[in-house]
Amino acid sequence: MPDQHPILGPGEPPPFASENEDGTSPFVIVCEHAGRRIPDSLGTLGLDDAHLARHFMWDIGALDLARAIARRLDAPLAWQRYSRMICDCNRHWEAESFIPAHGEGIPVPANAAATEADRNQRRAEIWQPFQGGVEALLDRRVARGRQTLFVTIHSFTPVFYGEQRSLEYGILYDRNDTLSPTLLDVLRARHGDKALGNEPYSMSRENDYTVPVHGEDRGLDSVEIEVRNNLLATAEQVEARADDLASALIEAAAMLNAATGMSPRGAIS
Ligand SMILES: [Zn+2]
Repeated sequence: MPDQHPILGPGEPPPFASENEDGTSPFVIVCEHAGRRIPDSLGTLGLDDAHLARHFMWDIGALDLARAIARRLDAPLAWQRYSRMICDCNRHWEAESFIPAHGEGIPVPANAAATEADRNQRRAEIWQPFQGGVEALLDRRVARGRQTLFVTIHSFTPVFYGEQRSLEYGILYDRNDTLSPTLLDVLRARHGDKALGNEPYSMSRENDYTVPVHGEDRGLDSVEIEVRNNLLATAEQVEARADDLASALIEAAAMLNAATGMSPRGAIS
């Protein structure tokens, strides 16, 4: 088999990016669908310009929100620079939707034609370095004896396949029974039914990776927060939602620490 050229050119940045790793917070914020870059070698994936600006290419507003929350908490922030349409870093590489053949019904020509070799290459150049970056960040915290509360930030579209969504916040989790339900209680007290658990999607190992593997499998209190993206359209809106979510996370962590302090397991270390 002939050697394939690398996807990423010498001038293109690595998929994993991070800032404020030495932040004082127990929270770690991750944004896997932050990026909208497409490596030059992949052109436009066969999509036209109108589709390249659509939500399915990346999570609109999610990085701005994640960064605003991380600043308020003094938390480390890690994110992925390339479009989720290159490969989805919140999927196992074996998942059907790892390289999505379409986004909200719009065919992605370069993905529909992707070969096994393409798949392996995107895994090796995009997915693995991102996962490795998250693992290394968490390993360094373990080595330093730091507590970690693991939070991922995503955004969802207000209209999905023609259906209008009234939901503002989705709190997603697989089997974490501490931070996620506590945060959901805090947000429901503020927003009622505009905050729901495992909506607009429910978390699964088929359709998610970051929280189940980096969070729950490591025994970390974890949560994926989904925010409706038309609530993140301006800088003022992003700041307002960051105020709301950062204070809710602090409140949830305080409730968790208080509850755990009374349990035989002792306080979270
Ligand atoms: Zn997302």
